[in-house]
Amino acid sequence: MELELEAGESAIYDSHVHTRNSHDGRDPVIAICEAAIRNGLAGVAFTDHCETYLGAEACMAVKEDLMKEVAEARGEFGGSLEIAMGLEIGEPHHDIALARELAGGAEMDFIIGSVHKVRGEEDFYFIDYDRPDILDVLRKYYEELLELSECDCFDVMGHIGYPLRAMSRVQRAKISLSGFSGLVREALASLARHGKGIEANSHCLKEGTGGILPPLEILKAFKAVGGEIVTTGSDSHASAQVGKGIPEAESLLREAGFREISFFRKRRPA
Ligand SMILES: [Zn+2]
Ligand SMILES: [Zn+2]
Repeated sequence: MELELEAGESAIYDSHVHTRNSHDGRDPVIAICEAAIRNGLAGVAFTDHCETYLGAEACMAVKEDLMKEVAEARGEFGGSLEIAMGLEIGEPHHDIALARELAGGAEMDFIIGSVHKVRGEEDFYFIDYDRPDILDVLRKYYEELLELSECDCFDVMGHIGYPLRAMSRVQRAKISLSGFSGLVREALASLARHGKGIEANSHCLKEGTGGILPPLEILKAFKAVGGEIVTTGSDSHASAQVGKGIPEAESLLREAGFREISFFRKRRPA
């Protein structure tokens, strides 16, 4: 479903939501749907973590458990909330065969492709941003975004600029990412060429995390290279947070020049 963005429009779609099936998620799908309806949301895409480095067995178990919960929730809330079956695949480019298996199947509505860690390193959440080679590690992040952009097993690239979330305010002020803008532009152009999108990820507007990702200039750059598909996601990990920050993410997209926001069904933005 594509939404015309008009001032004051209230239809809120949250296309990035974690449940208890994610290692860091808390609540069952049913409880999140109840909260979404209470918060006036029109639709939710459930996108639990499938980190490819955890292997096929662990990832397929997440997919199957989530599918069961989504089917149950559709039976209960189908008339009042659009519910999409999705996954957030971590590092699809590290294991393309597994990523394709996870993204495959008629039941899948939406796939976010994310980079949380680069080869040989931990998740950016655990990186020491004061280490002397931090710019090399960050360069790898942007190189891997470019590599991911070429993969055929996802719809929208997740939270571009993810390392910013884990840095302190001081580190964000100290570390300049301007040297990577060429790589970012290449990745954005590749996404646009392949008909893929990016998300405006509000991260529930958590304090001190660098704000909505990616920032405005990257959203504008995506538009400038012909990017058309954008989604909004709260990246919530608990029912109380579902939909949080979506209006702010929408207005950032509007500022960047996007007039329509997509909500995927059956892997299509319509
Ligand atoms: Zn993520
Ligand atoms: Zn997420």
